[in-house]
Amino acid sequence: MNKIALYILIFLIVIYLLIMSQKIIDLRAVLPVHANQKRVFPKRKLAQIDTIIVHHTAGPTTQTVRQIAQYHIGSSSHVCQGGCPGILYHYMINRAGKIYWVNSLENVVYHATPMNTRGIGICLIGNFDKIEPNQVQLDALDYLIKKTRKDFSQPLRVIGHHDACGGCKTCPGANLYPILSKYNAQA
Ligand SMILES: [Zn+2]
Repeated sequence: MNKIALYILIFLIVIYLLIMSQKIIDLRAVLPVHANQKRVFPKRKLAQIDTIIVHHTAGPTTQTVRQIAQYHIGSSSHVCQGGCPGILYHYMINRAGKIYWVNSLENVVYHATPMNTRGIGICLIGNFDKIEPNQVQLDALDYLIKKTRKDFSQPLRVIGHHDACGGCKTCPGANLYPILSKYNAQA
């Protein structure tokens, strides 16, 4: 191998390690959105946010963020007739504990009616009515909640989708929901 090829290889390895070591992977510009570019989420001011709302996908752990985005913008999505503007969360955490940033926090995303204007949606991939969230997912959720709270000047309550919709769903699942209470413990 000549020297230039070696330098290029080292450079690529460094870039790869930098990308892999990122705590939050920003997918906002690369995830698919609705084909009709006029179909966009309403905007809000960050000062309107006072709640973090936790979800599960209620699907298989192998589902990818891209597949979920495709479903939400497709016409089979039950939330918007003809497909939603984009993926319906702000962050997603996969089974490997990777955090994906999928929507700007200024976007009012339709994840937890009637609290969409106030809420940041974090969704963990998996069905936590059936399986347990694993430790890397819980660690990632913990990191993301603490970081988000630090980034905001106003206090942010942490609830499950179940609470936001008055018990309409089991989301984020019976095995994840009880863990959320520690984030609202009284000092
Ligand atoms: Zn939910």
